Amino acid sequence: RENSTVSITVVGASGDLAKKKIFPALFALYYEDCLPEHFTIFGYARSKMTDAELRSMVSRTLTCRIDKRENCSEKMEQFLGRCFYHSGQYDSEENFAELDKKLKEHESGRLSNRLFYLSIPPNIFMDAVKCASKSASSSNGWTRVIVEKPFGQDSESSAALTQGLKQYLVEDQIFRIDHYLGKELVENLSVLRFSNLVFEPLWSRQYIRNVQLIFSEDFGTEGRGGYFDNYGIIRDIMQNHLLQILALFAMETPVSLDAEDIRNEKVKVLRSMKPLQLEDIVIGQYKSHTKGGITYPAYTDDMTVPRDSRTPTFAAAALFVDNARWDGVPFLMKAGKALHTRRTEIRVQFRHVPGNLYRSFGTDLDRATNELVIRVQPDEAIYLKINNKIPGLGMRLDRSHLNLLYATRYSKEIPDAYERLLLDAIEGERRLFIRSDELEAAWALFTPLLKELEEKSISPELYPYGSRGPVGAHYLAAKYKVQWGDLSSEHYKI
Ligand code: NAP
Repeated sequence: RENSTVSITVVGASGDLAKKKIFPALFALYYEDCLPEHFTIFGYARSKMTDAELRSMVSRTLTCRIDKRENCSEKMEQFLGRCFYHSGQYDSEENFAELDKKLKEHESGRLSNRLFYLSIPPNIFMDAVKCASKSASSSNGWTRVIVEKPFGQDSESSAALTQGLKQYLVEDQIFRIDHYLGKELVENLSVLRFSNLVFEPLWSRQYIRNVQLIFSEDFGTEGRGGYFDNYGIIRDIMQNHLLQILALFAMETPVSLDAEDIRNEKVKVLRSMKPLQLEDIVIGQYKSHTKGGITYPAYTDDMTVPRDSRTPTFAAAALFVDNARWDGVPFLMKAGKALHTRRTEIRVQFRHVPGNLYRSFGTDLDRATNELVIRVQPDEAIYLKINNKIPGLGMRLDRSHLNLLYATRYSKEIPDAYERLLLDAIEGERRLFIRSDELEAAWALFTPLLKELEEKSISPELYPYGSRGPVGAHYLAAKYKVQWGDLSSEHYKI
């Protein structure tokens, strides 16, 4: 509105995430005219910096999209002119009060709305929330806080964090970000399913044999393992990103697209699942590997990681949703670092065609069931593997693909997940943020397993850097008569 203003404070503005993601996303929103007319951006951190120094730091990270080059440098200058900096401690109410004074000057008496993005290590979340809410929250508009993962280490620490936050904020003010929910293809999951007649009727145990959620990176921690070593791949990727995708994938049709209706359905899925057992999981850690004359390091070669670390850099898990729709369908998750490829995808393997007439006309067609692949990143795509007649007079069948490759179909560059999520937070749209009961249910599934892994000091299976991961992952899938789709011989690479 004309008489209102939004002040966005990036707490921890000197850090990696702020530089890499938050400021570039804010600029992209500005370029697209998505930010309100009256807005100010403040960086806040302990580092000493002037406004000019912040602008110079931020300017090095800004880019324009390929299709948005026009007036780019002019827009950048205008954007930087709206960025300011205040140096302060995270636990100082006085320093936040100084920030408040500066914010008020910029708000010039308009209705004040304030968004704080906590881009700081989790051990100082509480201090910053306390000081921001006591000394720098809006007196006449809304105040919202975006919190970055990790939301605790287990059920207990996560509950303590939630309780702590709720001393100063109500649930509606807390925006727990899981940037996977802001990814284009994850958002599209519901569109695909609920607005196409051909998918929804098949979306159950009756037709789906298994679902695979796969995250792989082709690089290791590369000297930045300090943070990761405290968490490991299960907490870093599975308990949040992959589980969120699973909940969206498996939920019942929500009453509406309203945030609470969607989150109600997601939480029901999580509550229908049994906590993971040790036999449902395989853990791995990458070891050094020499290939083509280059030696790739082991995880424990990382100087920021203890030499005897047992932290998993790979995990594969089998989960089950015990409800009428999904009874008995394995949801297989796989997440790993230093693997042979970088990719996040959802693979839906369908059941066999009963009494297939064409069983004798192709190679192994009885096993070649339909598979729907939603590739979240990179090279966003949706494709469906079908059995098809090879053109010609004879009757021979092969596996073909109905293929929607985003780069070919849509000329527009896909916005970064942080852009969507920041815009949603500004607009008060909570659909893609995690509610506290969802978080609690997510931790309840993984906490007993994580404790058991740690108490029993279970050693991860070593796998070579750049490989396809530990062999144990294949046995886990085989236990449920499943093959990993991304490792099949006909793995489709565009
Ligand atoms: P970071 O660079 O380690 O920290 C951000 C800022 O916090 C630093 O510039 C520093 O600013 C301050 N800080 C760091 N350690 C501190 C300490 N021990 N005590 C007080 N202040 C400290 O973190 P980040 O990588 O930007 O990530 C920020 C948050 O996002 C974290 O919660 C992280 O877990 C989460 N996250 C990061 C990524 C990523 O890609 N980087 C991805 C997902 C989630 P001053 O010294 O100037 O105060």
